[in-house]
Amino acid sequence: MATNRTFTMLKPDATGAGNTGKIIDRMIEAGFTIKAMKWTQLSLKEAQAFYAVHAERPFFGELTAYMSGGPIVAMILEKDNAVEDFRTLIGSTNPQEAAPGTIRADFAESIAANAVHGSDSDENAAIEGAFYFSERELA
Ligand code: UDP
Ligand code: MG
Repeated sequence: MATNRTFTMLKPDATGAGNTGKIIDRMIEAGFTIKAMKWTQLSLKEAQAFYAVHAERPFFGELTAYMSGGPIVAMILEKDNAVEDFRTLIGSTNPQEAAPGTIRADFAESIAANAVHGSDSDENAAIEGAFYFSERELA
């Protein structure tokens, strides 16, 4: 059964470019409610743990170095059909292929520095949310 929550991170390119507020506004305007949010930075080890599913991919080293190189904003978001609707809102991984008007089309710099993360399944949304937040931190 689909749950109504997803997990996102604003990546270091987005926080570094001063796009945090604009991107969060897009999410709210699209109907997502913020359940939890924190501005923080990952160590390299933490980035490797978060992206462990990609450990064998050729871009793993670059991705984890990038993701631990600056501030990120972690958020749990709520909406009907959250995972799928959020992936539609952010657009394709490669910003060159992202549909016009999507967050990645408008804010991403490159395939690695692509502004935002979005969970790909309800199961991963729960795992990724729990990586950052305890039940106590959800409102
Ligand atoms: N990534 C990359 N090079 C690639 C594919 C992915 O640097 O060729 C990075 C990119 O930041 C992406 C993340 O790895 O967001 C996770 O990849 P995934 O395929 O899960 O894409 P997503 O689910 O983020 O669209
Ligand atoms: Mg993914």
